[in-house]
Amino acid sequence: MIAVLGLALALWGLGHLLRSPVRLRLTMIGFLWLAVVGLHLLLPDGHPLRLATGTSAQVWLVLGGVLAFVLGYRSLLGRLRARADKTVAPEPTPPGKMSAPELERYARHIMLREIGGAGQKRLKAARVLVIGAGGLGSPALLYLAASGVGTIGVMDDDTVDATNLQRQIIHSDDRIGLPKVQSALEAMKALNPYVTLRPYQRRLDAASAAVLDDYDLILDGSDNFDTRYLANQLAVAAKKPLVSAAITQWEGQISVYDPAQGGPCYECVFPARPAPGMVPTCAEAGVASPLPGIIGAMMAMEAVKVLTGAGESLRGRLMIYDALYAEARVIGMKPRADCPICAARP
Ligand SMILES: [Zn+2]
Repeated sequence: MIAVLGLALALWGLGHLLRSPVRLRLTMIGFLWLAVVGLHLLLPDGHPLRLATGTSAQVWLVLGGVLAFVLGYRSLLGRLRARADKTVAPEPTPPGKMSAPELERYARHIMLREIGGAGQKRLKAARVLVIGAGGLGSPALLYLAASGVGTIGVMDDDTVDATNLQRQIIHSDDRIGLPKVQSALEAMKALNPYVTLRPYQRRLDAASAAVLDDYDLILDGSDNFDTRYLANQLAVAAKKPLVSAAITQWEGQISVYDPAQGGPCYECVFPARPAPGMVPTCAEAGVASPLPGIIGAMMAMEAVKVLTGAGESLRGRLMIYDALYAEARVIGMKPRADCPICAARP
């Protein structure tokens, strides 16, 4: 018996020296155990090999059983612990305070002079509503979550389908058929568990005014003019800055509309909505895959600047980006005296 145990120990030691995985070492010892039990069952009493391996088959069986139980129990415990680690949400910290893991997470932001600890706290205290979890909303939402914007609302009434995945990178193949707000929430939660997420599975309508009241900043990445004009009207009425962007085929445009701070609103700049069918949607005309990524990331960038006060936002300026020729233009814009939306401003 001593000889067999010594052999097992030697196998373990050799494995250790060769740095072979624990699983492989245990398998080798398992084979040794099987060989010994086999010898005891197959060879007649008094056979020299049986005498050399000592005691009886029962003892070996009990020993193997105990060892298997201990290893199985440890493996189960490890798996449960790993799962618990995954599901336990981080300790909520009060607004205005940041936990050690949060300080570590946002370190590259905090070291920027224009953001710093104060800016990061402002981001944490901020509430941002994103209308549309599509091409523009995907990168915007992911970067808002990664930036540490404390509360992120996402409004969309659509479900994920296969044609979305060419550009709507917050969604994934295994989430086809799910509501976009739910899919977006899963992706953001996986990226940053320290942010509070609020889903609104609906289309923006006049009744959404109350939702806008709960937010400091609105991002509109919707794909139709009705929603775009309504988002502007509601944002102006709620006196909230609006980052609005649009894309088609190879071209994108983006600005920050904030009449409460003296800038024009969306309708100041685009007084007449195009006749239905005049401006084709992405579904009708197509769109280059990375384009919404570029413009949507710019939306998040403008949001971070508006919220922290860093640099100069696109308020009063419209950026037009032509991806096909890699050209960008920035046009100055002013409020329009006869804008009905600004005239109705509270
Ligand atoms: Zn206006």
